[in-house]
Amino acid sequence: MSYPQSSHGELHLYPLPALESNYIWAIVNDRTRQAAIIDPGDADIVQAWLMQQPTLELAAIIITHHHHDHTDGLAELIARFPALAVYGPTDVEGVTQPLHDGDTFTVLDQPAAVLATPAHTIDHLCYLITPQEKSAKPILLTGDTLFMAGCGRLFEGTAEQMLRNMERFAALSPDTAVYAGHEYTLNNLAFALAVEPDNAAIQEAKARASAARAEGRATLPSTIGQERRTNPFMRTHKATVIQAACRHTGRPASDDPVHVLAALRHWKDTF
Ligand SMILES: [Zn+2]
Repeated sequence: MSYPQSSHGELHLYPLPALESNYIWAIVNDRTRQAAIIDPGDADIVQAWLMQQPTLELAAIIITHHHHDHTDGLAELIARFPALAVYGPTDVEGVTQPLHDGDTFTVLDQPAAVLATPAHTIDHLCYLITPQEKSAKPILLTGDTLFMAGCGRLFEGTAEQMLRNMERFAALSPDTAVYAGHEYTLNNLAFALAVEPDNAAIQEAKARASAARAEGRATLPSTIGQERRTNPFMRTHKATVIQAACRHTGRPASDDPVHVLAALRHWKDTF
């Protein structure tokens, strides 16, 4: 078995690169030898990975939102593993355990909680897995809502909704590990530096991410603590970010965080 990207007690996480920039995350419980797959956009990639781990049982699939690059492999995997538990939003075909904000469930023997995060899409769900071992850090699966140093595009929802999502994430424990659905980190950090050129935490994150990509490794996971220091969409209350957003729009200064986030998102859409 290949080495995991990261470990949380008995849970080990593996990024399976898919399509242009997606990560299908595989989570393995090393004790029970069960696996869960997050957002299988490509069934072949998941099946090829499972073939390399013949002692693993695929026990669950978790879906964050309805976009094809996160769900296209679902039907094929369900056909191959009919007993699978499929957790996800109510509108995704194949979901056996439809979930809503505040729901809790058990996956790979560990407790998980659902955060509804409408904005990128209206159905978007994020998942917080809190390993039972006290020393293990929590795992946040953020799909296309929170990326390292960025957030998802507003395809269906509003800046106000995305701001509320960012505020909920920021309130989580700073050591919570963030596993996102895409490798967008270097582009996001370039934008974060355009917003806050003097932010040393962003400069350090960029150096680390560049080194990881040069070695062909994923830049993820991030942490909530790092996002609070580097992610402009989580820093809409900071004077430097407010000033940069106002300079970009050319409008008089507004410190309303909804306006700041909307301006940043608009700016990033053409960055
Ligand atoms: Zn998406």
